[in-house]
Order: sequence, then structure tokens, then C-alpha cells
Amino acid sequence: MGPALLEVRGLTKTYPVATGHVFNRKTMRAVDDVSFDVRAGETLAVVGESGCGKSTMARMASGLLPPTSGSIRYQGEEIAGLRGKRLFALRRRVQMVFQDPMASLNARMKVGTILEEPLIIHRHGDAAARRKRVDELLDLVGLRPEYARRYPHQFSGGQKQRIGIARALAVEPSLLVLDEPVSALDVSVQAQIINLLKDLQARLGLAYVFIAHDLAVVRHMADQVAVMYLGRVVERGDRKALFDAPGHPYTRMLVSAVPRVGSLTAARKREILGEMPSPIDPPPGCHFHPRCPFAVERCRREPPALADRVDREIACHRANELPILSDDADRRALGPSAMKRMQRYVNLTH
Ligand code: ADP
Repeated sequence: MGPALLEVRGLTKTYPVATGHVFNRKTMRAVDDVSFDVRAGETLAVVGESGCGKSTMARMASGLLPPTSGSIRYQGEEIAGLRGKRLFALRRRVQMVFQDPMASLNARMKVGTILEEPLIIHRHGDAAARRKRVDELLDLVGLRPEYARRYPHQFSGGQKQRIGIARALAVEPSLLVLDEPVSALDVSVQAQIINLLKDLQARLGLAYVFIAHDLAVVRHMADQVAVMYLGRVVERGDRKALFDAPGHPYTRMLVSAVPRVGSLTAARKREILGEMPSPIDPPPGCHFHPRCPFAVERCRREPPALADRVDREIACHRANELPILSDDADRRALGPSAMKRMQRYVNLTH
């Protein structure tokens, strides 16, 4: 394995919370002590429900948002707190793609101008060289050269996201931070954009940090997966290991329930999966304990650290007791009362 392109250690972002009382200032930890590595040409998927801190983490990793504490090293260079010329240089190497292409593309600019803008900012050649590069970029994302003369509103959602990707690629970055890049698209279009991203990765040797709330989206895309819950990483490891045998109870819930509950109503989903507590007032101990069928007294008191286990890292006090086996073996090993609690999400969805 080569050295990491991006090395994130103890990354934390807190926000003040308005409590309505001046003497009762609180802070909430939107991202809480997150660490991971991304190697050149590799995809790390960051997965979790809405509000778990994925976007905040993505904006810090791409240098758009300063962290409260922690370290972000890009090719060995610390980028947390970079300013001026060095931040400018970083922006060339790390680019971000957003969920809503329409909101991130200037509606009054023609696509050619949108793609040319980063080239002008980063002083890429003369006008003729830039025009050539715009043609290349459109071709790279599967769009026709004449589209350069059209405006964003003349494109479909998928085409707009292709333009967003082309713009991110304009200055030849080596890392893209993709914040829910397909969440706003229809399922068939999602597959096209995922295939495009995979193709671009193979051709250009790009590394991706791919943010998603839906595990199904990253199934065919990720090399590594980090699962986040209320600001913390609860499990991190190889994609295949996590999908084949999820270890943390939360990952088990996401893997076993997501494909089957897709067609259920919101109320039924809540009944099966439970509700995510507020990140402003997270449960003590392990944040996941109120929804966890395996929770014991210790989980309510003590936050578990992310610890090494054979082929992954898991933050769970009971990680060594919960066998990483098929659902059936899990159930037998757990006994009847835990099985009953587990029915809340796993069994019910079978
Ligand atoms: P996700 O992308 O997983 O949906 P976010 O990173 O957007 O999560 O948000 C994580 C938490 O941080 C949420 O509770 C959100 O309300 C809070 N948050 C995000 N940005 C800010 C901000 N600028 N000020 C205060 N709270 C914020």
C-alpha cells in the first residue's frame, strides 16, 4: 500500500448552540474526533444518516471550512488553517462536487464560461488553450462540445452533475470530495453518474471521498467505507468486509435494513429503525445505545473508542462478543431476549 494522499486525524468541528439563555452556552459536536486515510486512486465512502456530520467533514477535508481541532494532511502537508497562496494551491489539487448541481452552477453563465472560470483563476494558458481545455472537459464527462454555448437550465439533472464534475476536474485535481453527488438524481441516472465517476477514476487516477446517506449507492464504488453516527465514526474498513459481514450494530442495521425498507413509508421506517437523536443533545455513552438491540449498562455510560478488530475498526463495547457472522448465526449466539429486541429492525425486514 502506498502512502496516504489524505490523512485526517482527530478532526473535530463544534458549533455554538443557542439555548435562549446567555449563561447556558452549549456547543454541539457536528464532527467528533474523526480519523481516516485516503490513498491515491482510492475511494473512501463516508456513510450515515442526515445530520451525522458528513457535509461538515467534507467541507473541512477540502479546505473550505476550518476545523475546530484536528489535523488534515494532504501529501504530508497540513492543510487545517492554511491561508493565502498555500490554500490557493491546495484548491487546485482538491476539488469538491456538490449534491445540487443547479445550486452550485451559476445560472446566468454559459457552460463554457462556467468551465473556463477555474482555468482563469488558476492561470491555465491563454484563451485558445482554455477553449481547447473546455472542449476536452466536456468530452471527458460525455457531453458534446456545442453544449458550451448553453445555459445550465437547458440541461437535465444528470447532465448538470456532469458539468459540475467537469468543472471540478478543470484544474486537474488528484482528489475529489463528492458530497452526495447522486442523491438528487433518479436511480437510473445515479447509475450513469457512478459509472462516469468510476471511469474517470480509472483514467485519471483520481482519489475520491464519496459522501452518501445511502449504502446502496457506494456498494459498487467504494474501496473503504467509514460509517458515521452523530459526528463519530463507528466502523471503518474494507468495503467488502463491511457489506458481507457488518460489525457495528449500526452498520448491521444499515446493511440489513436499507434495501428492504426502501419501499416502506416514513412512519414504518421509523418504527423499524428508530429515530436518530438530536446531535445537539446526543445520548451519553455510546450515541447509538437507545437504538441498539445489544446495548448494556456500560454502553449508556461510557463512549466506546474506535478499536482495531481483525479486518476493520469498530467503536462498540460489545464488538468482541457480537460475532461477525451471518444474521442467523448472530441470532443463535445472542439468545432469545436480544433476538426480540433485534426484531425491531433486522428480523422485521426479512
Ligand atoms: P450531514 O451532511 O450528515 O447531513 P451536516 O454536516 O450538514 O450533516 O450537519 C451536522 C450537524 O451540524 C447538524 O446537526 C447540523 O445542523 C449542524 N450544523 C452544520 N453546519 C452548521 C452551522 N454552520 N452552524 C451550526 N450548526 C451546523
